[in-house]
Amino acid sequence: MRRLAVLGCTGSVGEQTLAVAEAFPDRFRVTALGAGRNVEKLAAQVRRFAPAVVAAGDAAAADALRARLADLPEAPRILHGAEGLREVATHEADLVVAALVGAVGLEPTLAAIRAGRDVALANKEVLVMAGALVLREVQARGVRLLPVDSEHSAIFQALAGQRREDVFRLILTASGGPFRTWSAERIAHATLADALKHPNWSMGPKITIDSATLMNKALEVIEARWLFDLAPERIEIVVHPQSIVHSLVEFVDGSVLAQLGLPDMRVPIAVALAYPERLPLDLPRLDLAKAERLDFEAPDRARFPAVELPFAALRGDEAAPAVLNAANEVAVAAFLDGRIAFPEIVATNASVLESHLARAAGAVRDLADVRAADGWARAEARARLGLREGDAA
Ligand code: MG
Repeated sequence: MRRLAVLGCTGSVGEQTLAVAEAFPDRFRVTALGAGRNVEKLAAQVRRFAPAVVAAGDAAAADALRARLADLPEAPRILHGAEGLREVATHEADLVVAALVGAVGLEPTLAAIRAGRDVALANKEVLVMAGALVLREVQARGVRLLPVDSEHSAIFQALAGQRREDVFRLILTASGGPFRTWSAERIAHATLADALKHPNWSMGPKITIDSATLMNKALEVIEARWLFDLAPERIEIVVHPQSIVHSLVEFVDGSVLAQLGLPDMRVPIAVALAYPERLPLDLPRLDLAKAERLDFEAPDRARFPAVELPFAALRGDEAAPAVLNAANEVAVAAFLDGRIAFPEIVATNASVLESHLARAAGAVRDLADVRAADGWARAEARARLGLREGDAA
C-alpha cells in the first residue's frame, strides 16, 4: 500500500491523481490533501478518501470546510495557508504528489524533500524557480523526484536502463498550441477565449495560456535541464501537433527512443504513482493506423519568441529562471484578467529577463534568494504593464 499526500488536489492534475488512486484502492491510500479555495470540491474529496490532514487556502476556506464536514464522525485535521500546505507535504506518506500551480508550490515541495519524501512532481515551477537548490536537497536526502509532466515522464521512461553519459540530447515535443498556424498579425489580436482553446490537452487556465504562448515549453526546457541534469545546449524543442510522441531521447550512437500514447495525463501520473511498476489503466489506446500521421516542425521563433527565453535564462545566473517564471505569472494573470493583449505576455517576460540579466544578481543559496528574485521580477512586470500591487498575481 503506497500512502499519498496530494498538494493541489482540486486542480486538474490533482483530480486526475485521485482518480487513478481511486481506481486502485488496494495499492494507494490518500493520507493528506492540500488545496486552495475550492471548498466544495475539497469537501467531496475528504468524504471519498478520508485523509487524516487537509489544508485549505486560507482561514475562511478552512472554516467553510469545517462547516461542510461537521456531520463526519471522524473529521480530519483541517489547516490552512502556507503552514497547512507544509503539514500536508510532511505528513506520513510514501509519495508526495506536488500538483500545485505556480510559485506557491515551491516551499511545501521543498519541505517534502527535506522530510525525506519521494516526490511526484507536476508543479514545474518548483524546478524552474529553484532547480539548483532543489536538486542539492534531493541529492542530500536521497529522495526520488518522479516527473509527472508528460514530456518529462516520456524522457524518464526513455532513459530507463540507459547510462547518463550515453545521452546526446533531449527532444521536447510541443503541440504548438491553438495559434500554431496563425499569422503574427492574427496572434496579436487573439482573445482570451481563443487562447483557452487547447487542441489536445485539457488543463488548467494558467498552463493553457502558457501552451498558447509556448512559455509552457520554455519552462519545460528549464525543468528538463534540472530533472535530467543536462546542459541546455543538449535540450531541443520540436513542434508535434498531434501530441502522440510525448518526447524523445537521442543517444550518442544516433538512436532515438520516444514514448508514445494518446494525450491523457492519467498515464504519466500513473507512471509516477506506481514506479517502478505499471498500472493496468483502462483508457483508450493508441491505434497507430488510426493516427494516420505524425507531423514534426521546428518552432517558429518569430511568432513564438518564448522558445528563446529558457536558453537565455539558463545562460544567466541561477536566479534568472525564477525571474522569467515570476514575470510570466504576473503577465498571464493580467491576460486572464483581460488587462493586456496576448503578445504582451512574452514581451513582458523577455523585457524583465533582459533587465535582470543586465544586473546579474548572482547565486541562489536559499529560498530567500529565490523569493527576492521572484519579488523583484513581479514588481518589474507590474510596472511594465501599468498594474498596481493588487491587480494581478
Ligand atoms: Mg508538459
